[in-house]
This record gives sequence, C-alpha cells and structure tokens, in this order.
Amino acid sequence: METAVYCCPCGAQYRVVRQEAPPDQHKKIACLSCNDSLEGREGKFVLKYFRVKRPGEELPFKLTH
Ligand SMILES: [Zn+2]
Repeated sequence: METAVYCCPCGAQYRVVRQEAPPDQHKKIACLSCNDSLEGREGKFVLKYFRVKRPGEELPFKLTH
C-alpha cells in the first residue's frame, strides 16, 4: 500500500492510496469538488482518494481563526 497526493486542477487535494485488486475491479471516481473524473486504476492497483483539502481551504490540521 502506497500513498501519494493528488491535486485536482480545481484546487482540491487528495491523499491517494493504492491497493492491489483484480483487473476486473474498476470503479469510476469523481472529484468531490468539481466532479471531474479521477483515475480509478493504475496497473494492478485500484486508487482510493481521501480528500484532505477543498479548493481555497487551508489544511484541516492547520487551525486559523
Ligand atoms: Zn476537482
């Protein structure tokens, strides 16, 4: 299992986790912010996206008031 960060052109940021999966397992994934399609597979891996940042938003763990 590997993680990477994906930045959507709309400004949303995702943590991407790769998981090995059978080749028939394919899921359509869309950006939660702009609904743009995200890559669902990479070779023998399926990609899972966890949004860490919305467009124009600071990282959640960095508290600003
Ligand atoms: Zn987006």
